[in-house]
Amino acid sequence: MLLRQKYPLTWHKKDFSIKIFCSIPNIATGILIKAGKAYLVVDPGDGILRDLNKDIGTKNILSISNAFITHGHHDHVGGIWTLLTYMRVMNKKSPLSIHYPAGCVEIESIYHAFHKVYSKSIPYEIKLKTIKDEKSIRSNGVTIKPFPVVHKEYLHDGITTKQVPALGYKFTYARMNICYGGDTAYCTELVRNAKNSDLAIIEAGHDEETPDDMHMTMNEAASIGKSAKEYFLVHVPE
Ligand SMILES: [Zn+2]
Repeated sequence: MLLRQKYPLTWHKKDFSIKIFCSIPNIATGILIKAGKAYLVVDPGDGILRDLNKDIGTKNILSISNAFITHGHHDHVGGIWTLLTYMRVMNKKSPLSIHYPAGCVEIESIYHAFHKVYSKSIPYEIKLKTIKDEKSIRSNGVTIKPFPVVHKEYLHDGITTKQVPALGYKFTYARMNICYGGDTAYCTELVRNAKNSDLAIIEAGHDEETPDDMHMTMNEAASIGKSAKEYFLVHVPE
């Protein structure tokens, strides 16, 4: 069953839910998962603080202990600085772990700059968690399984492309699961992980029927989505 996209997109089953505030290519992504009482943020792009503030409020924002990053493109990480600074100003005490693919220089650079600017006034611990393999991560009853995806970017000549460090994640809680592919071309890892999941969130960022190494066409994305119980197609150009 395809769930149509009109942001925010929400899905829930028992006490496991996801809200996609936004997923527009080159503009912003922002995703919040709630599992029991725990909140996880995924791909905090520009606007994430505004959306979180409206949705869950300061106290719950400060309770967030984990952020998951699929890759370092600006439309997926643009809100990190804001979020880190807000947590500083609001005096967050509990640690925040940021999970990101190994080699994602954007996250490391943002973290180092933040640390340099505010080294004497960060009240909470920021833990950078580099993901180097497909080992599952467990936190607050949620199992998060990373998997590699195919996502490229153009070099300055506008022709040559290179693979960027990029992951998808499968979030499992109380035997329910959500598969989020991040940005990816059609790839077997995503096909495998999306299959039979309770919800698959699949990007359909390519506007023509000519597949490339960066994004999927609607048809490719839908073919993967249909293997899940329910799915959202996201990251469609507006
Ligand atoms: Zn991207």
